Amino acid sequence: MELNNFQQIIDNTLNDIKNIEDLGQIASYIPELSHIDESKLGIHLTTVNNEHFACGDSNESFSIQSISKVISLVLAFELLGNKLWSRVGVEPSGSSFNSLVQLEYEKGIPRNPFLNAGAIVICDVLVSHLDDPKQHILDFVRRLSGNSTLTYNTSVAESERKTRYRNNSLANLMKEFGNIHNDIDTVLDVYFHLCSIEMTCKELAQTFLFLAMNGKNLLTNAVMQLCGFYDEAGEFSFKVGLPGKSGVGGGIIAIHPNQYSVAVWSPKLNKKGNSYKGIKILEVITTETGSSIF
Ligand code: GLU
Repeated sequence: MELNNFQQIIDNTLNDIKNIEDLGQIASYIPELSHIDESKLGIHLTTVNNEHFACGDSNESFSIQSISKVISLVLAFELLGNKLWSRVGVEPSGSSFNSLVQLEYEKGIPRNPFLNAGAIVICDVLVSHLDDPKQHILDFVRRLSGNSTLTYNTSVAESERKTRYRNNSLANLMKEFGNIHNDIDTVLDVYFHLCSIEMTCKELAQTFLFLAMNGKNLLTNAVMQLCGFYDEAGEFSFKVGLPGKSGVGGGIIAIHPNQYSVAVWSPKLNKKGNSYKGIKILEVITTETGSSIF
C-alpha cells in the first residue's frame, strides 16, 4: 500500500464529503450530546510507523461514547480470559444497540460486548475485580493515548444517568437472570463514565493503534469486525472492509492490522446510529488507498 499520497487522499475525501447533504441526526436522546456543532468533521490516520495524516477538526475533543467499549472489553478480557464468554457472546446482534427483546429470549446473556447490555456486563466484571474501575479505565486510556489529562465529561455521564431508563431496564433484566453480580447503580455509574470519555481524532487513533500492532489483540479485532457497528456491521465490512467501532457521539475508529488506525468524527448519525458522513469517509479512504482487508 502506497503511503505517500495518504494526506492528499484524506484532504480530498474530507472536502468532497463536507459538501454532500448530511442525512443523519444528532443523538439527542442523551441531552448533553445535542449541543454539539453538527458541521464538525475530522480525520486522523496514524500508521504503525508513527506517521500521521490529519485534516479538518481532528484536534477537537468529542464524546467517544461506545468506542470506549473496546477499551472495557480489553480490560475485562485481561481479567477473566476466556471465562468472559460465559457472561457475554461474540455474535452480531442484528438488532439495535439498546434492544431489550433479544436479551429476554437469550436469558440475560448479551450477544456481544459492544451492545449496551454487553458493555454493562463488562462493567460489572470490572466492578467485581478492580478496586477503582473508573480510575483504572482512565489510567489505561491515558497510557495508550499518551495524554495524561484525558478524562470523563461528568456532565455527559450525569445526563446519561438522568435519562437512563433503557440502560436501567437492560441492567435490571440481566440482574434478574443472574448476569449482573453487583449493585446496578454502581455498575451503571462505571458504564456512564466509560461512555463519557472525550478525545480528539488524533488521540483516538493513537489510543487504538495497539490493535494494529503485529498480531496483537486479534480477538478484539474479530469482535469489532463482526459487532462494531450495531446492526450495520455487515454493511460496514462490505463497504469499508476494516474492523472498527462507532459511538453515538459521531466518532468511528477503524483498524488496518499491521498498518494503521484511523479515527473520523462527524456528529450526525444515520438510522442505525453510526456517523452518516464518517462511514462515507472511511469507505472512500479504503477504496482510494486499496486498503480494505478483504
Ligand atoms: N452511552 C450510550 C448509551 O448508553 C452509548 C451508545 C453508543 O454509543 O452506542 O446509549
